Amino acid sequence: MTQTIVYPGTFDPITLGHLDIIERAASRFERVIIAIGTNEVKQPLLPETDRIHLVKQVVAPFNNVEVQAFKGLLVDFVRQAGASLVLRGLRNGNDFDFEQQLANMNRTLAPTVETLFMLPSLEYQSISSTQVRAIVRLGGDISAFVPKAVLAALEV
Ligand code: ADP
Repeated sequence: MTQTIVYPGTFDPITLGHLDIIERAASRFERVIIAIGTNEVKQPLLPETDRIHLVKQVVAPFNNVEVQAFKGLLVDFVRQAGASLVLRGLRNGNDFDFEQQLANMNRTLAPTVETLFMLPSLEYQSISSTQVRAIVRLGGDISAFVPKAVLAALEV
């Protein structure tokens, strides 16, 4: 049995919703690995190095959370990390439809890797990095949606 869980995502940028999920995981698992990938379809705001740097800053208070870059298949990353659990956050039915497909396909690729889901606090269930990126590009205020380190890095 492993107590390591991998939380993969783009984190472009990390939001208070992501942080809520990370806090929940950090209090229940021995080790949480945040695996940061790049999703070209989503028109990146921040380069990978900046996203990693920001997530590291935000999770610095948790001594059982680490941050790694990942490329390639998630299930390969998970197995190489010596883990068998993947964590994803669920906000609504749209997330569920997408995540169900992803989890089922990952299960076919790697039957020993299990995907677990967590709901964030109600107040964070409508936060999305995609909308945060749109607001940033339009010069709006994202302070209700992201940790302070993100505001400082984006100078907004
Ligand atoms: P991806 O590009 O893989 O969807 P994201 O960085 O957008 O990566 O999200 C990573 C994970 O965090 C996904 O499981 C996503 O559903 C979840 N997530 C995103 N925003 C929130 C939020 N506000 N509350 C809870 N989970 C969230």
